Amino acid sequence: MISEIRIGYGCDVHRFAEGRELILCGVKLPHEKGLLGHSDADVAVHALIDALLGALALGDIGYFFPDTDPRYRGADSMELLRKTLAHEAFSSWNISNVDLTLITQKPRLAPHITAMRESLARALSLTTERISVKAKTNEGMGFVGRMEGMEARAVVLLTAEK
Ligand code: MG
Repeated sequence: MISEIRIGYGCDVHRFAEGRELILCGVKLPHEKGLLGHSDADVAVHALIDALLGALALGDIGYFFPDTDPRYRGADSMELLRKTLAHEAFSSWNISNVDLTLITQKPRLAPHITAMRESLARALSLTTERISVKAKTNEGMGFVGRMEGMEARAVVLLTAEK
């Protein structure tokens, strides 16, 4: 019987840059630009990590993996996700579902949605039907519309039998 639930929300933005790979949900996507960041700049996974941390009021990604720490230079964000879930606070909680929205003008993400869901499902040990990855444009407006960067928003639900 589920006796407790927690919801978590996370968001992140990263700037597009030349000479970088575009990695979303741990999946390398073909695009002429990638996202700039201290780590691999996987904006989707960063939003998800913040949602997970937020659900248990543990802080945020910048606190756990500071961008001033050379250990996280070029870090694989999927590894940061695994490290997050290894925090003892998560041991008594199950992830019920994840709902992630990626907002970018380009590239078109629809052909990669399945691969991204499968990648997150593997990392979270969940079935893909519990992982939603949605993609949308910003209708040409703002920094996303000008293709300066992209944005991700994530919601997670945690449940526990306590
Ligand atoms: Mg980030």
